[in-house]
Amino acid sequence: MTQIAPGVYSLHQQKGGHVHAFLLDDGADLTLIDTLFDTNARRVLDRIKSIGRTVKDLKHIVLTHGHRSHLGGLATLKRLSGATVYSHEWEADIIAGERPAQPVTIFPMRPLRTYWRVYYLQFGAALGRGKHPPCAVDSHVEDGDTVGPVRVLHTPGHTPGHLAFWWPERRALFAGDAIATYPVLEAGWPAFNLNPTRQRASVSRMARLGAEVVAVGHGEPITAGAAERLHSLAEGR
Ligand SMILES: [Zn+2]
Ligand SMILES: [Zn+2]
Repeated sequence: MTQIAPGVYSLHQQKGGHVHAFLLDDGADLTLIDTLFDTNARRVLDRIKSIGRTVKDLKHIVLTHGHRSHLGGLATLKRLSGATVYSHEWEADIIAGERPAQPVTIFPMRPLRTYWRVYYLQFGAALGRGKHPPCAVDSHVEDGDTVGPVRVLHTPGHTPGHLAFWWPERRALFAGDAIATYPVLEAGWPAFNLNPTRQRASVSRMARLGAEVVAVGHGEPITAGAAERLHSLAEGR
């Protein structure tokens, strides 16, 4: 766990594909972006305590999309905090457990020497395995909405209702699974991008923000040369 910008805490869990969640402290309330893999939410609760806050300070839980790795702690955190849970409307019934996530291809991503590390996750997603504890979404958000300190960006492609979040004062972008840095820097894990055309457009749009910090769903955040690296990704370099 590290502070990657003032009031921006990165939480990491190896399980779920080096999945990350982000705790934001804007000086008033806490906002959490995604909830890691484990269902007991222990890592998030420990982090809240370690910055001198309590779970009741957690007012907003925003979700990038309805994939298992990011939803583990959600139901527990909702119960303990009473925070409002936000997602795009398209993802909300998946998060509530009323509809399975859209399956991805079972064919391995290439190069194999890179992507064998996350094939077990792809295999599970292809077969519709791996259920998270369901949790109702309280509020549907769309492009241009604001939640806590962040602005909502609709960034479809990985999934239709995928969201990214932008904290302008910190020049921090939370890109969800639209960008991955594990196992390698990539515009999302190729097999998981349900709509590659929309995915490319979403990455281009994010590249134009001029972010100084880019926090992603899988792998370490980008804290150096972030804007340039996003431009490279967008241009397919
Ligand atoms: Zn995903
Ligand atoms: Zn993911």
